[in-house]
Amino acid sequence: MHLYKKYKVLLLIALLLSGVFLSFSILSNNNSPKQYIQVLGIAQDGGYPHIGCQKTCCQLYYEGKQSKKFVTSLGIVDRRHNTKYLIEATPDIIDQIRLMNHESDSNIIDGIFLTHAHIGHYTGLMYLGREALGAKNIPVYAMPKMAQFLQSNGPWSQLLSLKNIQLKSMTHQKPIVLHSGLKITPFLVPHRDEFSETVGFFIEGKSKKALFIPDIDKWHLWEKNIVDEVQKVDYAFIDATFFSAGEIPRPMSEVPHPFIDETIKRFENESIETRSKIIFIHLNHSNPALLDNHPSKKRLESLGYQVAQQGAIFEL
Ligand SMILES: [Zn+2]
Ligand SMILES: [Zn+2]
Ligand SMILES: [Zn+2]
Repeated sequence: MHLYKKYKVLLLIALLLSGVFLSFSILSNNNSPKQYIQVLGIAQDGGYPHIGCQKTCCQLYYEGKQSKKFVTSLGIVDRRHNTKYLIEATPDIIDQIRLMNHESDSNIIDGIFLTHAHIGHYTGLMYLGREALGAKNIPVYAMPKMAQFLQSNGPWSQLLSLKNIQLKSMTHQKPIVLHSGLKITPFLVPHRDEFSETVGFFIEGKSKKALFIPDIDKWHLWEKNIVDEVQKVDYAFIDATFFSAGEIPRPMSEVPHPFIDETIKRFENESIETRSKIIFIHLNHSNPALLDNHPSKKRLESLGYQVAQQGAIFEL
């Protein structure tokens, strides 16, 4: 009897909580801006937790002290035109589409923009094929070498022959105007280009602009000045793979990225207003700023920077 009562109380609490949660999610959908970017993932290609990692960073996840972090991706949503675009097709695409879509939505996705052919950025395309969704002609925007790579290698080539996807070509610095008034411009960046070139994206909405550079070797190798580019936009989602040198036990010159430390140095004389536009993204599992409530993350925030949060929405 006692036990039964206890269950009844627990059930009541669960029902109340789910009601609150449901009304909150409906409310947040209705209150979300008409056009926005949603952060769908913040981790480097290998994701978090990371395969085979026995260190504290990933053990914290298995102990239930950290949440799962999906691989870096942005969603671009236009509620007026009911259109949704994905930047990157990551191995977490199933959950990411779910995170972005509203309950009432009928179409899954209106287009996918790819930066390059490293595993975290395009392999989610596999779920669009015959074994999974069996999609019909989903537009996939790719640069010439990226497109060539998909055309000439299985299983990607089958997505094309079965018309699960259709390739749309992109050109360096040529804007693509989407029918909802959004503009997306790819631009080349230096990166380990084994299978394809690598681009970042300049995203222009109705009232705001954003920069997305998830992978770049080092800022000084880029023809543009990152400080100037950040000043031109409202939000800059930029490469924060590693926090500092010596973070992983292999030569870090094999996987060059601008360390967060180096980026901070570049922006140290900039105003807090400029720094607050920076949203660090694409964090490796070894990067302490990836972890919820880590002091490194707090330190970055005290300097004005943001660390991307899965699910966060930025009005465009
Ligand atoms: Zn990457
Ligand atoms: Zn780890
Ligand atoms: Zn890469």
